[in-house]
This record gives sequence, C-alpha cells and structure tokens, in this order.
Amino acid sequence: MTTKNRFFQVPHCNGMGYRDPTAQAAMRAIKAEGGWGVVCTEQVEIHPTGDIGPFIELRNWSDQDIPSLARIADAIHAKGALAGLQLAHNGMNAPNLTSREIPFGPADLPVFSIFNDPVQARAMDKSDIRALRHWHRSAALRGKKAGYDLTYVYAGKLFGGAMFFLSRRFNERGDEYGGSLENRCRLLKELLEDTKDAVGDTMAVACRISVDELLGEEGLHAAEARDIIAYLAELPDLWDLTLSSWDNDSQTSRFADEAYQEPFVTGIKALTTKPVVGVGRFTSPDTMVRMVRQGILDLIGAARPSIADPFLPKKIEEGRIEDIRECIGCNICVAGDHTMSPIRCSQNPSMGEEWRRGWHPERIRPAESETRVLVVGAGPAGLEAAMMLGRRGYAVTLAEGEKDLGGRLVRERRLPGLSAWGRVADYRIGQIAGMANVDVFRDSRLSAEQVLDFGFPHVVVATGATWRRDGVGRRILRPLPVAEGAVVLTPDDLMAGLRPPSGPVAIFDDDHYFMGGVLAELLAREGWQVTLVTPTGEASSWTVMTMEQPRIQARLIEAGVTIRPHRILSGIRTGTLDLSCAYTGTPSSIEAASVVLVTARLPDADLMRGLSARKSDWADAGLASVTAIGDALAPGTIAAAVWSGRRYAEDFEAKPRGLDDLPYLREVTELVPGPLPWLT
Ligand code: ADP
Ligand code: SF4
Repeated sequence: MTTKNRFFQVPHCNGMGYRDPTAQAAMRAIKAEGGWGVVCTEQVEIHPTGDIGPFIELRNWSDQDIPSLARIADAIHAKGALAGLQLAHNGMNAPNLTSREIPFGPADLPVFSIFNDPVQARAMDKSDIRALRHWHRSAALRGKKAGYDLTYVYAGKLFGGAMFFLSRRFNERGDEYGGSLENRCRLLKELLEDTKDAVGDTMAVACRISVDELLGEEGLHAAEARDIIAYLAELPDLWDLTLSSWDNDSQTSRFADEAYQEPFVTGIKALTTKPVVGVGRFTSPDTMVRMVRQGILDLIGAARPSIADPFLPKKIEEGRIEDIRECIGCNICVAGDHTMSPIRCSQNPSMGEEWRRGWHPERIRPAESETRVLVVGAGPAGLEAAMMLGRRGYAVTLAEGEKDLGGRLVRERRLPGLSAWGRVADYRIGQIAGMANVDVFRDSRLSAEQVLDFGFPHVVVATGATWRRDGVGRRILRPLPVAEGAVVLTPDDLMAGLRPPSGPVAIFDDDHYFMGGVLAELLAREGWQVTLVTPTGEASSWTVMTMEQPRIQARLIEAGVTIRPHRILSGIRTGTLDLSCAYTGTPSSIEAASVVLVTARLPDADLMRGLSARKSDWADAGLASVTAIGDALAPGTIAAAVWSGRRYAEDFEAKPRGLDDLPYLREVTELVPGPLPWLT
C-alpha cells in the first residue's frame, strides 16, 4: 500500500459509530477531501464479547455490518485516500453491557471500564484464545470485503484487549501466554500473523501499540515497550504509536504542548524498518517536518488536528498556513464519545454535521441576496457568524464594544493553561481581516437606538453573558443570603484583574466545567489560601468528559488548594461561609474572607430587550430581523457558541422550516421483516 503523502488520520472515536454510519462516512470523506493520505475509522468491535457499550463505536460482528463499513470505505476512496479499519477486541475494557457476555482477558479481574461497572472479566483459557483469533481473522476478512486498504491489530491504550496480555500488572498467567515478555507477546503475535495470513495479500496490517503507560515499572513502560516492538519489529506493515491510557495519549493543551509524545517515540524507528506513525496534536508544519527530518516519525498522525481542520494537509500543500484552523486542545471532541453523542469541536462547528445538516468545514452556499447584516459582539459566536456570512458574500458589519476582538476568549485565554483556546478567536479574526465585505468596528458598544439608526435589515445579537453574583446555579435556585460587608466576587471580576482582600478565599463551584478549577489554580499560584467548595465529589467534575479531571485534581492538590467535596453553599457572612452537606443537609462553616461564585451565567440581553421594546419602530428603521446567538441566547461552551454562529450563517435566508420539519437528517434502524415470532 502506498499512501500519497505523510498525513495519516489515525483512528479516532466520534460518538457516531454503528448508530450513524452515513454521518460517519461523510465526516471521514471530508477528511479525505482535505488531503489526508490515510483516513481510518475508530476502533471497530469485532465480536459481542468485546462490546464497549454504552459507547458508540463501529461494529464488525458479522456480515450484517459489511454495508455500513463499506459505505465508509467507499466514501474515503471517493475522495482519494486509503481507508483504514481499526479492528478491536476490547477484552477487559469491555463491560459487555449490550451483549451480556462475560468479558475476558488474561486474568480474573474487574473490567477496566470508565464507569467502574460491577462486572468482572474471567481469565481466558485456550479455547477462548482460539475463538478470539478466529473472530479477529473473520473480522479482517469482512474488512477486506468492505474494501479497506489497511487493517489494525490493536494493542494500545488499554482498549485493544491484547494490551492486557502485554502488561505485567494484568498478566500473571503461568501458561505460555504469561510470564516472559515473549509469552506476554504471544497473543499479539498470533493476531498479527493471523491477520497477515488472512488479508495480508491485499491489505496492509498495522499494529497500534502503547509505548508507555506512565506508571513506571508497574505498567507497560518505555523500555519494555521497546523490547516488544523490537521483538515483533517486521511482523506488521506499520507501527502506530500511542501512550496509554487514552487520557495520557490525548492530553489537553492545559497539560501538554504540541509534540508532547516526542520523548516517548524517539528511537522507535531504529527498531524496525516498517513505517512508524505517531501523534502529538500536531498543527505546526515546522514541527511535522522536524519529526520526519529527524527520523522520529515517518507519518504524521493526527486525530484532533484533523477534527479541528479536516483540510490541514491541503492548506499546507497550498502554502495557506495562516488558514489552518488549529486544534485548541480542549477535548470537547472526546466529550462527544463519552456522552455518546455525535462528535463536536470548538474550532470546527461542521464536525459531526457534514451529512445530517450538510455543513462543510471550508465551504458554504453563496448569498441569496445583497442584503446587509450587523453582528453585535465579537466573541466566538459573533466572529463565526460574521466570518461565515462574509464567506457567503453578504455585506457584514461586526461591532464590538471592547478594543480587543474575541469576547470571553480575550479574558479566558489569559487563565493558567488556556492560552491555546485563543486560537478560536485568532483564526476567525485572521480570516475576517482578509474579507473586503466584512467591516469591523472596535470600541463600539451599541445601544438599541444606535442599532435602529444604522438601518441594517438584519441584526445578530452576540453580546455574550455575565457570571451571576447571587449564587443561583444548579443546586441553588434562589439568591443566597449575603451579609452586609461580605465580599463576593465572580469569575468576571477576577478575569478583569480584581483580586480578593487578604485572608482565605473560597471558590464555590456549581458549574463543574473548567472555570472553578482554573480560578482556584490561578489564585493559589498567586499566593492565596484557597478552598474549593463543590457539591460534587471532585474538582471540575464534568471534565471527566474531556479526560482532564484527574490532572486538574492533582494540580490543585499540588498547588495547595483545599478541596471540600459534597458541600453546598447556604449563606455568606462576613469572614465565614455557611455550608450544608449535599447528602444530609448537616450544616458546617468555613472561614473565608471572600468567596468567588462560579455557578451560572446570565445572557447579556440589554440590547435584545431594548430592540424588542422598540419593535414598532423596526419597519421605519428598515429592520426585518433580530436574532440572539451564542451565550446571549443561552450561555454554554465555546463550541456551542461557535456552532450557534455557524447555524445562523447557514440558516440565513434559507427556506423557512415548518414546525414539523426536523432540523436535520437522521438514519433510522431498518426493521426486521414481521410478523415477529412471539406475536404469532
Ligand atoms: P459568545 O461566547 O456568545 O460569542 P462572548 O461573551 O464571548 O459571547 O462575546 C460577546 C461580546 O459581545 C463581548 O466581546 C462583548 O464586549 C460584546 N458586546 C456585548 N454587548 C455589546 C454591545 N451592546 N455592543 C457591542 N458589543 C457588545
Ligand atoms: Fe481540538 Fe478541541 Fe476540536 Fe477536539 S474539540 S479537535 S481538542 S479544538
């Protein structure tokens, strides 16, 4: 197999899998269109005994799955890339919630699943190993029938079940599949040999393996992983290198820089003559070239950079470096898989919408008229709306109240570890700068009167949101009692440069995403004595979805932050906070000279309200529509704001949808022919 270039979209989950195969086919095809030489699927379950539900991945359990798999391969081929199929038996990572089969692996141990399911795996015997080899071989043959060019044997990230055999901490077997390194490699070796034998005449066989679990001697560590690769060196046709587990492999920009895997993969090429692909959130062409020139990697692997910009290779090929939409390393894409919902991306709002809404990462249909649009507010939502309306060819005016464009990102990018998030603004500001039909006005805070005076036919209100100061959020639904003289701050205050008075400061986090944790880190690093109070069990608890939670918790502990879990704020007195136990209501109190409330945000709706109040003047002012988008409509993530801006631009002057029209296409499961046996 010869790939046309070195850009390799490594397998990545997408929350679509077997439920949305056509949506996935379109998503992968767009990567191929964007120039990736190889485009892979996510991990594809080979059998019901390796069922990783509730997560939604592709399945290759029987011939019934071939049409879905073929649709994806065909779509990738149609756009000129090689199609890769990542076969996986998840072994001890699969709780088998759908199939109810008993999971199996090298030992009798609890499954290694995300939710700590109350399921134990059983130790495989020889007949299980024979069965697994048979299923893997059959799945490879089905992959061949489905038209794939490349198939994987997966022994990485504690997803590929063979990895549990490689790692001493899971494998204490006394037979020829345990003990010595050669024995622990036996299953992987057999799977590779079987796959080569079954399909190696026409397909390349890749091995995805973890090069370090970052657990030292306890886990599969660098030296041992190198011994394994040296031992199996020439058996696969390609080595795909990862860290383990997934949270180590896909670290966010808050915790790791581009190319963070370099020390772990350097030197591996010397162990094999076969091509080596590795990842590291590569978005800089210089870094990619260095990886190849220095002989560290042969192929530039990417999951997230290809999600943020499916056209990254084309843009490099055409020398359009400034047009690259760089991944910000936030892992909102990963949250799609963890929430079993179609993948979304902070940078690329078309991700997951390619088929169902017909959105393309680079193109949008031309303007339907010569009308003009005023976008008020240049945060992620306003910038995206202005950019995409501009691409359509409309005359757009973007007015921003502040000197700097970027809205919330102007402030949030200055928080510890979040500087890369600013790329969401930078990309759009850069694109808009080159558009003659988009005028940008800074320092222009507009009132309803001014907007009406300007006479734009269409106004987009993207004015953002403000953090609440009254404690209302998830657990507290009425404003908190605050004693006279008590100091209450919000994230907006801190981001504007305000600081608490001297003395201990408490942060009450009922938001649970990044803000509470990152402010605790900020204040602790500046020398404050910080207590983080949360109704949940952990700091920034939602960040389990972005795989950051353990790292955030560790960072806060290391920074000296006291974490008070399972506590709800019930009152704010001068110097004291009243708390109650989230389970029993038992009251307690802590000393705090000030409190920062990270609870909820309110839309900045002044402009919207002002314009609504003057609806009777709209016709005279030539105003036909006013639409709130992004946080001004309902505060949410950056990804949601960008998506909202894109949706406005897509829907603008589109045929109106009826109340009964669904907003997007969907794929409905085909029913088996009736009548059903138990009804007859
Ligand atoms: P979103 O995430 O929805 O894009 P942001 O809070 O990031 O929202 O951005 C909103 C932007 O709107 C901020 O930069 C703010 O300064 C700006 N803004 C708010 N009200 C006005 C107004 N009346 N006129 C111009 N700009 C405004
Ligand atoms: Fe990168 Fe964030 Fe997009 Fe994922 S969601 S690809 S991490 S920008």
